[in-house]
Amino acid sequence: MTRYIDVNDLCYLVSQKGLQTCITEMAEYIRADYLRWQDFEKCARLANHSPDGVIELMPVSDASLYAFKYVNGHPKNTLAGMLTVMAFGALGDVDTGLPVLLAEMTLTTAIRTAATSALVARYLARDNSRSMALIGNGSQSEFQALAFHAMLGITEIRLFDIDAKATAKLAANLKAFPAIKVILAGSVAEAVKGADIVTTVTADKAYATILTDEMIEPGMHLNAVGGDCPGKTELDRRIVERARVIVEYEPQSRIEGEIQHMPEDSPVTELWQVINGQQPGRENARQVTLFDSVGFAIEDYSALRYVLDVAKALDVGSDLELVPDLADPKDLFARLAQQPRAQQKKRA
Ligand code: NAD
Repeated sequence: MTRYIDVNDLCYLVSQKGLQTCITEMAEYIRADYLRWQDFEKCARLANHSPDGVIELMPVSDASLYAFKYVNGHPKNTLAGMLTVMAFGALGDVDTGLPVLLAEMTLTTAIRTAATSALVARYLARDNSRSMALIGNGSQSEFQALAFHAMLGITEIRLFDIDAKATAKLAANLKAFPAIKVILAGSVAEAVKGADIVTTVTADKAYATILTDEMIEPGMHLNAVGGDCPGKTELDRRIVERARVIVEYEPQSRIEGEIQHMPEDSPVTELWQVINGQQPGRENARQVTLFDSVGFAIEDYSALRYVLDVAKALDVGSDLELVPDLADPKDLFARLAQQPRAQQKKRA
């Protein structure tokens, strides 16, 4: 049987652990898996583009588990009352091919993206960082805020979005965390001025310039999350030229990241090298550092591994006959003859 974790199961799991604990623990799974970089069979994700969005498949495996995620990115969806980013994923047993987990990954992606951002910032942001500008106040934003609060001790967050309702929603959701001082900014420049960390997590299928070079002060760490697709970036090219740039998996980031604007040999460092100590993170207090985040399959592998471990420990989820459960593995035909359960009405 395959363990099935739907959205409600994931919400229950998070309610039992606490969101910030989940973020912090998932970050540790991600760190542990990046430390084993050479163990993974990796490839850039497979992206199918359409005029308003993209649907991507993200596979990766090691000697024991195979993972994939299906994820979309449709920035105009919110106008129709739908999420910009929706996802689900699976883990399979490499020895047998049996799918061991089928899981929602919309919430899980928000948790893993925030966990990765904060994990990377531990290597790149200045140790005394306390404030963060958060540009783009949509679905991912609460998770980013809470990850930086839990993992880096960020206590002041300045919010800006072109949609004032999104900012009001984020501010209202953060009220439950009184240790975080929330400041509503009137512009990107106002939010960024004097911030230690700047997170951009906007959604627009365009070469946008959310951050201009003049806004960037010495010593800032930039966590650029929203530019994750060909033709979809957030930063002025001059920022990318002068920053120390960390990417997840260079072959994928060259196509999808902020560095798609840069020559193919522009200097970048892969995250795994920083995590295992082969390469430095931040080199000095005045350096501008940039995590050119696009999201890599190993992070989803780690996230699914975490969800499965916690689901087993807390007995969350259900068993799904996703593949036939047979008495005789050569008699697939017999499964058709078994009395099917009455069809319950499953559609809303
Ligand atoms: P969302 O649609 O819920 O929110 C995006 C917000 O950005 C909206 O509130 C929108 O008004 C705002 N925005 C758009 N243009 C802006 C601008 N010029 N200035 C300020 N705000 C602006 O989307 P989401 O789920 O929060 O995702 C945000 C982005 O993060 C998407 O581009 C998505 O593809 C990306 N993402 C990246 C990763 C990763 O691993 N790197 C993971 C998940 C999502």
